[in-house]
Amino acid sequence: MSELRITGISVDLVRWPLKMTRRHGVGDIEGSMPGAIVKISTNAGIVGWGEASPWSVFTGTAEANASAIHLYMRPLVVGADPLKVSTLMRQIEKTIVGHPEGKAAVEMALLDIVGKHLGLPVAQLLGGYYRSEVPLSVSIANPDFEEDCNLAKALVADGVNIFKVKTGFSTHKEDLRRLEWLRANLPATVDLRVDYNQGLDPWDAIRHLKDVEAFRPTFIEQPVKREQRAAMAAITKAIDTPIMADESVFTPTEAIDMVRGEIAAIAEAAGITAYGGTMFEGGLAIAAGLHMVAATPNISLGAEFYTSTFVMEVEVLKTPIVIDNGSTRVPTGAGLGVEVDEDNIRRISTAHFE
Ligand SMILES: [Mg+2]
Repeated sequence: MSELRITGISVDLVRWPLKMTRRHGVGDIEGSMPGAIVKISTNAGIVGWGEASPWSVFTGTAEANASAIHLYMRPLVVGADPLKVSTLMRQIEKTIVGHPEGKAAVEMALLDIVGKHLGLPVAQLLGGYYRSEVPLSVSIANPDFEEDCNLAKALVADGVNIFKVKTGFSTHKEDLRRLEWLRANLPATVDLRVDYNQGLDPWDAIRHLKDVEAFRPTFIEQPVKREQRAAMAAITKAIDTPIMADESVFTPTEAIDMVRGEIAAIAEAAGITAYGGTMFEGGLAIAAGLHMVAATPNISLGAEFYTSTFVMEVEVLKTPIVIDNGSTRVPTGAGLGVEVDEDNIRRISTAHFE
């Protein structure tokens, strides 16, 4: 038992202004995006930070997560020992159903405190640095495709080698036209991936995906609705390209369900390869993701950790996440290894609870 105690937890409901418009199978993003930022204070003066990045069409809402943190999680953690992360998270889990993004934000802030208290980066708490940088994957999701073409060319010149094309929000013909352009105009070594964000109907999905395979995507992500598991399994069997589950797997229980559907996947369970996707996340959430990917060997397909740099108009970190030569660099300081600019949080805050 340590002498360390949590003295307060505040949450800011924020609205991130965005530099880019994004179009995905499940919904569009334009102008701004809600989120929540959590600050946990301790009697030792150590402060931990976390971020929740839900998207209403995808998961829950920022408002519900901020309320859940303030009304249900705060009373459980104030006065508690922040080093007992799993005990606290278990209590939170028992007290309130759902709101996984809010729970992740609190856990992130607790790990930030533990790391700062012990003088260790979070990646070290999670098992150590298996990698120190993570290959960057940038999504091609601008409704103005010409703009994305220019961006992709500029990024290739900067060393970015992975692009994920968002498909299924327009016509199949348009998806093929965009893939054709990217294959014809980017270097042959570029690693292209495709993400339907649930945009296909099972009845003609296989036919569409066979056309898409001609462009040699490394994987095809979430072609059909999250609950259409049988269709996901049938597509995986019918298509040579690996099929990636995204929206189908939010929890460990859903991951087990998904694996059960595939005998081959069970055989490979020990080595299932994963990829670091994002929501519309600011620097805190990206930093937490970097620590997790750094310490998890099988998340080996890179990660799209660019939103705080390319998409969010306001930076909440004093030193932004470093993107260099096509990779994001994992912070090395204690805790999440980032310093927060509280003035900038106030700039985007729409409500503050403590
Ligand atoms: Mg996805």
